[in-house]
Amino acid sequence: MGNVHELNFLKEKIDELKKDGVYRKLPILETPNETEIILNGKKVINLSSNNYLGFANNPRMKKAAIEAVEKYGVGSGAVRTIVGNMDIHEELEKVLAEFKREEAAFIFQSGFNCNAGTIQAITEKGDLIISDELNHASIIDGCRLSRADKTIYKHSDMDSLEQVLKENRDKYNKLLIITDGVFSMDGDIAKLPEIVELAEKYEAMTYVDDAHGSGVLGESGRGTVDHFGLHGRVDFSMGTLSKAIGVIGGYVAGSQTMYEWLSHRARPVLFSTSLPPAAVGAIIEAIKILSETTEYTDRLWDNAKYFKEKLGTLGFNTGHSETPITPVIIGEESKAMEFSRKLLENGVFVSGIVFPTVPKGTGRVRCMVTAAHTREQLDRAVEVFETVGKEMNII
Ligand code: PMP
Repeated sequence: MGNVHELNFLKEKIDELKKDGVYRKLPILETPNETEIILNGKKVINLSSNNYLGFANNPRMKKAAIEAVEKYGVGSGAVRTIVGNMDIHEELEKVLAEFKREEAAFIFQSGFNCNAGTIQAITEKGDLIISDELNHASIIDGCRLSRADKTIYKHSDMDSLEQVLKENRDKYNKLLIITDGVFSMDGDIAKLPEIVELAEKYEAMTYVDDAHGSGVLGESGRGTVDHFGLHGRVDFSMGTLSKAIGVIGGYVAGSQTMYEWLSHRARPVLFSTSLPPAAVGAIIEAIKILSETTEYTDRLWDNAKYFKEKLGTLGFNTGHSETPITPVIIGEESKAMEFSRKLLENGVFVSGIVFPTVPKGTGRVRCMVTAAHTREQLDRAVEVFETVGKEMNII
């Protein structure tokens, strides 16, 4: 057995990572998370951020954050149910509900927390959660925390979903279908209109994780539900405030009943301190900006289309993304990591993504084009992709 405190059981696993060529140190960023950054001391083009709209360093939002700090301090001081529920938390929820065109919105400290806390709170023993096989890890963990039974359907396969619904409708009290709105590793959009129809047919509830749809899809970034015009037909419309919105946090939009229940029973609300005022102030400003103009979302889509077309023309396999998420699929894990390392050496940061984040044998680099990239930066990045891609016989 040896001395368990030396953590030899972990050292062995770490050695395996090294052997598989997927061991890495966390990169260190010395600048704001913008389109050109200093990473590990080197200036590079950043193609790995979820900062879709460039809001993470937006001057109006920074000013709003500072004003919130001056008014409320740097921390909220408690969980919401005790004395950590400030008027700006409630203001943010009103702003989000209006923006999402839903009755109410309930905020959490992160998108991860939101999934973990909400799924558990809205399901119980005797229920069945039906989840797309490619749903995000935070949904999987949220399902694990729930006392309901769980099952998966094949990715975006409506026959598979209907089969599960048909087989289980009479065996369970409530059924809950959960899907990512935009799948984070491939960039494809959920078939939400069909999912909603099936949910209505079999009387199941629906839950959409719109981490990558918020601020990206729909009018001014209102998300996947808005993109398909499905307002009022999705029970739980979850989103993050950490990606396109540029700050931190998560929320779920839906009915007032949902709001009241979550405020009593979602565990991150009861047992974890609420969002800091600076974050809340900045997010309120972000939603104001999105409500005023489509300039940022328009630029995001233009840039994404431009970049994707250039990579496709060079012969890279960019999968079947329908959104700004642009995977470049390599296959072998170690080759994907090597591609990422070589791109970095040549001044472009695109993180390598391998198992367990994506299935084995589908190692890739995932490019995140943003509204803030200039055409000159995108052209430079494409040149580097071409050079390294040819050198490694990828194209
Ligand atoms: N859901 C999805 C689909 C995500 O991609 C992420 C972020 N990786 C999350 C939830 C968690 O969001 P956050 O980073 O705000 O905790």
